[in-house]
Amino acid sequence: MKKSRILIVEDNKALAKLIAKKMEGNVEMDIDVAHSMAEAEVFLAKPSEYFIALLDLNLPDAPNGEIVDYVISKGIAAIVLTGSLDPKTREIFIHKDIVDYVYKNNMDDINYIFQMINRLIKNKQYKVMIIEDSMPFRNNIKKILTSLQFQVFTAAHGEEAMSYFADHPDIKLVITDYRMPIKDGLGVLKELRKENDKNKLGIIVITSPKEEVNASIFLKNGANDFIAKPFEKEEFICRIHNTIEAIENINRIANFANHDFLTGVYNRRYFYANMEEYLSKHEEFFEPYAIAMLDIDHFKSINDTYGHDGGDKVLQFLAKKLVDETKGNDIVARFGGEEFCIVLKNISKEEAIKFFVNLRSNIASQSITLKKESFKFTVSIGVAFGRSDYSLDEILEFADGALYEAKENGRNRVEVAG
Ligand code: GH3
Ligand code: MG
Ligand code: MG
Ligand code: MG
Repeated sequence: MKKSRILIVEDNKALAKLIAKKMEGNVEMDIDVAHSMAEAEVFLAKPSEYFIALLDLNLPDAPNGEIVDYVISKGIAAIVLTGSLDPKTREIFIHKDIVDYVYKNNMDDINYIFQMINRLIKNKQYKVMIIEDSMPFRNNIKKILTSLQFQVFTAAHGEEAMSYFADHPDIKLVITDYRMPIKDGLGVLKELRKENDKNKLGIIVITSPKEEVNASIFLKNGANDFIAKPFEKEEFICRIHNTIEAIENINRIANFANHDFLTGVYNRRYFYANMEEYLSKHEEFFEPYAIAMLDIDHFKSINDTYGHDGGDKVLQFLAKKLVDETKGNDIVARFGGEEFCIVLKNISKEEAIKFFVNLRSNIASQSITLKKESFKFTVSIGVAFGRSDYSLDEILEFADGALYEAKENGRNRVEVAG
């Protein structure tokens, strides 16, 4: 992926250097530094794409923040750096289309900038929808969210939003006004929450103090947060980011709970959760599937020869291979030491057997290099097929039995149960 560029405009050379140096360790970006407006203009004249610019308000050739409007006019997100806490200056610049206004007084402030930049990089991946009937207000929010790098979509009322949402289920955050014609914010909230829980879709309701309703009604109906008009842009941004970060954190934890730490494939816990859902979904109309237990042959001797670390590398190598060979809905799970379980969904017996026979020979023919030594390893595979008259555990036992036979019959083999 192309690295993004960042422009720092700061006449204090020591500070500019410090920020650039700290930034190299904290942000995945190429950095340009200008010490004056004139130097910044030279950088900005080139057709390179800046992701964001950090702008000092007080430059020798632009002492009153003139750089800010110039950078914004180029469509570049701007973070303003200021040395003074003067509220009048803050008031002027916070109402421009800047992302943030940061005091450069100490290292904590500088660290805050890195956090913000990393936040903006992550925001790029998220779709956000604004539902607001007032056009000026809608446009205003859109501007803020666009400067925060979100992919922004707008709707003028709840009905429009719902039909749009049906076509774009990957929207991550909805910001909805409460009082709207046709379908109001509470209606939108209730309808969206039927299908999307709080940890997948963030919903923030905008209320106004004139409303008859108490804001707690939104929280009780599943809003992640609410915000009352009129609000400060900075407060709005903080609340948006809090909601997004809460969702990210929950997902990160869920990810840990579902995956094997060493290989990154699913763990046994997730295997059962996924299969239970899958089987109940296909309870009425059975879908053919195959389960295989796969175990590395003589793994102990790999450990003995290449050490435990070497053994771990083989496990990682194999896990990646299994994931690469299977499809998105299939499951690869690590069940224990060097034992993996693979589920192929919606597949005929013939195709499943062909897949595992190929997989076995494919693994046996590949070399892995550890400690500058190239070697090969093999796996044994036991296959069983899904049946509605047996439980999942029973089918797993059949696969286990077939694996045992594969080992008994000399290893590096596929055996099919039944
Ligand atoms: P077989 O062909 O019968 O499967 O023999 P094997 O040596 O592969 O099987 P065995 O069950 O006798 O030994 C498995 C070994 O795997 C023993 C254990 O120390 C090792 N092991 C288990 N978990 C890990 C792990 O996470 N990393 C490494 N490197 N080794 C592990
Ligand atoms: Mg200055
Ligand atoms: Mg083994
Ligand atoms: Mg074993």
